[in-house]
Amino acid sequence: MTRPEPRPDLDKLQPYRSSETAGGRIFLHANENPYPLPSEVTEEILDAAASLELNRYPDAEPRELIDEIATYAGVDPSWVWIGDGSNEVLLQSCLAYGGPGRTALLFEPTYVMHQRQARMAGTDVAVARRDGDFTIAVTEALGAIERVRPDIVFVCSPNNPTGTVTAVPDIRQIAAASPGLVVVDEAYFEFSNLSLVPYLADHPNAMVVRTLSKAFRLAGVRLGYGIASPELLEQLRRVRMPYAQSSFTQVAATIVLRHREKVLEVVAGIASERDRLAAALEDMEGVDVFPGGANFVFFRHPDPTGLLSALAQQGIVIRDFGHLDGCENCLRVTAGRPDENDAFLEVAATLV
Ligand code: PMP
Repeated sequence: MTRPEPRPDLDKLQPYRSSETAGGRIFLHANENPYPLPSEVTEEILDAAASLELNRYPDAEPRELIDEIATYAGVDPSWVWIGDGSNEVLLQSCLAYGGPGRTALLFEPTYVMHQRQARMAGTDVAVARRDGDFTIAVTEALGAIERVRPDIVFVCSPNNPTGTVTAVPDIRQIAAASPGLVVVDEAYFEFSNLSLVPYLADHPNAMVVRTLSKAFRLAGVRLGYGIASPELLEQLRRVRMPYAQSSFTQVAATIVLRHREKVLEVVAGIASERDRLAAALEDMEGVDVFPGGANFVFFRHPDPTGLLSALAQQGIVIRDFGHLDGCENCLRVTAGRPDENDAFLEVAATLV
């Protein structure tokens, strides 16, 4: 019996892995929001879910949800695209604008899914390096764009895993110089409040991608969105699954967006916990913290293995990035609740 042969180019693609969570009790590895939704919001979602007609397909163009996103983002609803998590939107951008014989350019180290999604879609990947402090040097970026002439450029700001924020004027220069699609991944937008969205009209080749998984406390529901001109979004329709967002997703995301003021109340506290973690780590002998504008802290530690195992003994899970080029000895800790961050810092303080 012969076994089916997978696509040969998939051998460049290792399955996605995150941290080991078995035995964990404090989860600071996935940049989730540590606060559940306010209980009245959860109740409203469950009430609305009770009357869904689950025998029917969901609304293919959920107007209310799209309108809520448009109002929140300050754009016309025709500029809004929704996906099952921002990961789906990122993949769709590769399916529609990348593909065999085409190239995506990214500035590494960055969110690993960008190169993975490009590859899933059969797109070649060209890598430009960030500086030692993980900023994107614009002149070098423009040089890489000129050299590679990429069909897609990914810019992640704030960048995962390093937290680095790229200034909006720099992103605009990159967009203006790019011959193809520019995907600006703003998954952590709410923690920095810097966005390309107000300038999108000047950049018809750019799409901003965001998510409800982080600031909006809705990672379990899987709703992400893209903001771009209707002409750019039109091409994504070709690669979209019919009825992709479940009825439950639509209801939950719409209700959460309607309550955005309340839901986003925790964002300022998470950002200040991030700064507290950063300051405390910076005070530790031999630890270097990289400035970041998301809900996590990226740092270089003299003994990452020792720290990871001391944390694991206490059931505290963070994420190791030492395997990435340029990130030797680097770890990432998500800002959790103050008590969770205290537990992390207490262990970290015993190591240095
Ligand atoms: N972009 C970035 C930069 C991320 O860090 C993540 C999640 N870790 C995502 C996109 C995907 O998030 P989701 O699919 O939950 O929207």
